[in-house]
Amino acid sequence: MARVRFAPSPTGYLHIGSARTALFNWLYAHRYGGAYILRIEDTDKVRSEKRFLEEIMESLKWLGLDWDEEPIKQSERFDIYRKAAEDLVNKGKAYREGEAYIFKVDKGRSVEIDDMIHGKITFNTDDIKDQVMIKSDGSPAYNFCCVIDDAFLKITHIIRGDDHVSNTPKQVLFYEALGIMPPKFGHMPLIMGQDGSKLSKRDGGTAVEEYRREGFLPEALVNYLLLLGWSPGGDREIMPLDEAVKAFDINHMKGVQAKFDIQKLRWMNGEYIMAKKAEALMPLIKKQFLASGKAVPEDNILLKVAELYKARIKTLSEFITLTDCFFGDDYAIDEKGREKHLSSAESKTILSEFADRLEKTGDFAHKTIEDACRIMAEEKKMKAGTIIHPTRMAISGKTQGAGLFEMMEILGKDKVIERMRKAAS
Ligand code: GLU
Repeated sequence: MARVRFAPSPTGYLHIGSARTALFNWLYAHRYGGAYILRIEDTDKVRSEKRFLEEIMESLKWLGLDWDEEPIKQSERFDIYRKAAEDLVNKGKAYREGEAYIFKVDKGRSVEIDDMIHGKITFNTDDIKDQVMIKSDGSPAYNFCCVIDDAFLKITHIIRGDDHVSNTPKQVLFYEALGIMPPKFGHMPLIMGQDGSKLSKRDGGTAVEEYRREGFLPEALVNYLLLLGWSPGGDREIMPLDEAVKAFDINHMKGVQAKFDIQKLRWMNGEYIMAKKAEALMPLIKKQFLASGKAVPEDNILLKVAELYKARIKTLSEFITLTDCFFGDDYAIDEKGREKHLSSAESKTILSEFADRLEKTGDFAHKTIEDACRIMAEEKKMKAGTIIHPTRMAISGKTQGAGLFEMMEILGKDKVIERMRKAAS
């Protein structure tokens, strides 16, 4: 049975790169059978904060990466680390320097790691200094407590970022000194920004929390992160977590650096939004309204608008901005569009005449509205666009959106004519 762990330090929000690490550990446990454990590395008492820990746990749950056992916290285990360090001093493998405990590194030998992703990596101990186990302030050093806890938790596989490759030989030396078989290691190349440097705000954000706020679906984010470490083969890109669990193969994880591409993530999010039923999107959209401080619209109109727009939006926050004309008269106006389509006397005359014709229609189904538009265009020998553009501007304040006639049907006859008359005046 595999036992894997995700070991965040609660000194900041859950980073996109850490979320990917969590995902692959979770996948490993679910694919090969075993436990996925959460360990809180809060040894830095000054920088670790409760709010960060809460956010990390909440983001993990939101992503669907729930852990299997009660999480352990390193801040509660200082006595255990000190005891283990003392044992190594008593065995002559370490020494004291004041309050600190230091591990002796034997020089002139090599340490080999058979990395699950990179293959064999060899280190020379001449390049490794004696290792602090317990600092003089009594707190444990990362490499030491990490090994004590991985051994205590009986971790079989460690999957983490490449930034820990250089720590691995040090950890292997601790395992040797403790007489414990080291687990298997797999290091994933870090996620880089578009220009090849460290991922930053410019690339779309570094915290999972930001994507959540922006209205990305957890399924889409997980699917995107999956592709940054593993390829399901062929051209396949859309692969939900439950299918990934069946298809995942640790031997096919990518050893090459991954670039974070926000446009691709947006595309993928759009695909997931489109695939959902409008009913299923409703609670998510409502949350987005609440989060943006706007009143939540009534269910029946919201459902219709969601149906009309779900194939056009890439994020849920886009839904709010694109559809504001349906939920009150205080919607944003594209000034350039107004100038272009609504400023001339001719466009006002057209709008007025179209409004007159619409007033006389029996019903206000989109088909009826479309027919009225077509007939007017034929009679006036003008292109339908000459009627459509000013009308779209008049009723929505935008130059783009869903199909105009469907929009008009949802808005209803009274509101449409009121807005057209106002724009024509
Ligand atoms: N707290 C470490 C980190 O967040 C964990 C490293 C590890 O997985 O061993 O980078």
